[in-house]
Amino acid sequence: MTTIEANLLTVRQRIDHACKVAGRDVTQVTLLAVSKTFGSEAVRAAVSAGQPAFGENYVQEGVEKILALRELAPDAALSWHCIGPLQSNKTRLVAEHFDWVQSVDRLKIAQRLSEQRPANLPPLQVCLQVNVDGGANKSGVEPAELPALAEAVAQLPRLRLRGLMCIPEPAEGLAAQRVAFDRARELFDALNQSGLALDTLSMGMSDDLDAAIASGSTLVRVGRAIFGSRPPASS
Ligand SMILES: *Cc1c(COP(=O)(O)O)cnc(C)c1O
Repeated sequence: MTTIEANLLTVRQRIDHACKVAGRDVTQVTLLAVSKTFGSEAVRAAVSAGQPAFGENYVQEGVEKILALRELAPDAALSWHCIGPLQSNKTRLVAEHFDWVQSVDRLKIAQRLSEQRPANLPPLQVCLQVNVDGGANKSGVEPAELPALAEAVAQLPRLRLRGLMCIPEPAEGLAAQRVAFDRARELFDALNQSGLALDTLSMGMSDDLDAAIASGSTLVRVGRAIFGSRPPASS
């Protein structure tokens, strides 16, 4: 068994356990393998171990891997999620190559993605990134501005609004971690009560996926616990 295969098993067991504790069905939680900074061979190892969905932060790097995996695993039905901050000059590449974008936090970016989504592809699946805890990580729409943004994005013809994504500041322990996740869940429920039909609440990473599942996450984004530690981010 490869390390990646063993790590995937461990992560799936964690998800299983967190679902049991929360009284949730394990089929309600999707595992997204975050492959940023790792090469195509690592992705292929995960594909061979049965993992179909991948998240990438850096658009150019992600597109290279999407194309490489078409050669390396031509029969696999993979889905690719863009989860990193998006600049206007990168929207076309995202619209042309990814299946999902989870990091939309302003209307202008959403409009560009909708205009640039090729007609021969299904609508681009979108989550709005929300800044649930006002953290130093300033990406994400402010909760007060979320309802208006969601209404506007839901109207765009080539996008399909699926839900919310958040990246809270790291916290120690389940109870502290759940504060921000519960807030995201409340925002998610409020949007659904207002008439949107959202099904995706993307929250939880290697260190806090258990808390996120307890708070209602439907998609956890896991990098290090699958692929190992990354070199420190350079900026
Ligand atoms: C890197 C990253 C992850 C994965 O984080 P790990 O701690 O490696 O599990 C998840 N979501 C986003 C948006 C990321 O940038």
